[in-house]
Amino acid sequence: MTTQIWELIDPRDFADGVFYVPAMLELQPRLPHWGHPDQPGLRDRLATADRPHGVRGKKLLCLLCMRIQAERNLPPEPVWLTFVEGRYGPMFRHEGGRSPHPEHQPETDIHKALKERKARTFDAAGAIDVNVEVWRPKARRRPDVLAVGPELTVAGEVQHSAARAREIQSRQKALRKAGDRVVWTTDLPAADIGFMHLVPHLALPTVGDHRYYLREPKVNLIAGAIVLERRRCGWADLWTGTQRCPATRKAIPCGQWHLYPTYDPATGSPSPTT
Ligand SMILES: [Zn+2]
Ligand SMILES: [Zn+2]
Repeated sequence: MTTQIWELIDPRDFADGVFYVPAMLELQPRLPHWGHPDQPGLRDRLATADRPHGVRGKKLLCLLCMRIQAERNLPPEPVWLTFVEGRYGPMFRHEGGRSPHPEHQPETDIHKALKERKARTFDAAGAIDVNVEVWRPKARRRPDVLAVGPELTVAGEVQHSAARAREIQSRQKALRKAGDRVVWTTDLPAADIGFMHLVPHLALPTVGDHRYYLREPKVNLIAGAIVLERRRCGWADLWTGTQRCPATRKAIPCGQWHLYPTYDPATGSPSPTT
């Protein structure tokens, strides 16, 4: 039996992208030219000439799933992907029904613009450090934007395509496990965002031109949506839907004061990170 490529690579040596076997390259679908500006024809080759994908074609490996397997000390196994130009845009689909990773969804101009505006807003709100696409080991996810403030970290997620409520919730839960407060932003029309009702989210007007989100001063991604107030531990936490301590996550109050999201902006502090 011949050795397969997937047996030779250690997913922990990569950056959770997609391994393109015929080219022996890691693709980062969110980056321009998928991370290989020197090879602008890569996407066309993969999408048209290099078919089939999936288990049959053995051309695209999910380095993210394989890294998670390795971290759980499971025996190495290939996780094959298929590239499709779907109803909600291009994506890398798993065999076996697992939802596609947002980390592998080629970014649209709108998604990029919303992410950039969100990062700028967190900056303006006084965050100490703002980064995009940072790997959160405990969550095993890369949120779109991560803002670090003196007291809490806020993960900003941009949702530009429809998804299942279950997917949104499991992403929310995973990031919360890493200690991040998650703020979702969507530009989908109001009638289409029912799937986001269980998470704190901001809905922006749907526009065709992504530059609107960068230029329009009235698009303040925070105003009116997430305002925090300082309360003694044990307060009802809208973020988690419980009264657990946000620091220890235990049901017994720790006796300290914490920041909680509020519906009453008059009493709150205007910034998410201070
Ligand atoms: Zn995967
Ligand atoms: Zn507490």
